[in-house]
Amino acid sequence: MQTVTKDLRDVFCVVKEIIYPGRCPVCDGILNTFEIKDGKLQRGGLIHRECAKKIRYVKPPTCIKCGKSLKGVYADGEFCEDCAKIKHAYDRGFSVFEYRSVSGSIYRFKYMGRQEYADFYANATKKVLGKKLKELGIDLIMPVPMYSRKAAERGYNQAEVYAGRLSKLLDIPMRSDLVVRTRNTLPMKNLDVRGRRNNLKKAFNIQRNDVKFKCVLIIDDIYTTGSTIDEISRLLRMAGVKKVYFLTLAIGQTT
Ligand SMILES: [Zn+2]
Ligand SMILES: [Zn+2]
Repeated sequence: MQTVTKDLRDVFCVVKEIIYPGRCPVCDGILNTFEIKDGKLQRGGLIHRECAKKIRYVKPPTCIKCGKSLKGVYADGEFCEDCAKIKHAYDRGFSVFEYRSVSGSIYRFKYMGRQEYADFYANATKKVLGKKLKELGIDLIMPVPMYSRKAAERGYNQAEVYAGRLSKLLDIPMRSDLVVRTRNTLPMKNLDVRGRRNNLKKAFNIQRNDVKFKCVLIIDDIYTTGSTIDEISRLLRMAGVKKVYFLTLAIGQTT
């Protein structure tokens, strides 16, 4: 009986894909529902094969704190330029892609309703970081929360969509209500470090009585200065969480 239900579900998925074909996270073109691979008809991939070559993954050596690729004069050190100066509240971070190679993709994922890219993102994450993340002993995945009115306008919180796919793939529970954003904050890109910190003051609230987790992974789409993740890390620590890690889809060079 179970296989029948599974078969039916597969058929349903294929039909859905034919009616609403998926889109490539790099070029946004339509993906094939089926393709010929090694002489056999197979289900199509989550990205065009040619487009996959355009994506740059974060490569070692990386900063032992934020996980950014170390380049130039910093290549021989342990920390990147930012982490050498700022003390972060989280333990360590990881990112999957070099920001520049996926900036358009993440923009569409965030603002243009392309939630489906999350399947590719989560698969890629599992492939390059799955083992490492498993070793950390994470007992909870949580997305960076979005202010509720903003999420309602946009229809979804992209960090939560990505975190949800990842939670399933890595088999680690996700909670998106542990920390809430209590007010809308200004866009961070025009603020300096102090401005960013003031901007985030009392922006988040934690459901303290609920926290029985020891090791949490915070999920976001892009890592820039880390001030948002630091703010949430502080709250989690105050509530008794021992280890706080973060994972973002993309990270840039120095900011
Ligand atoms: Zn493509
Ligand atoms: Zn760093």
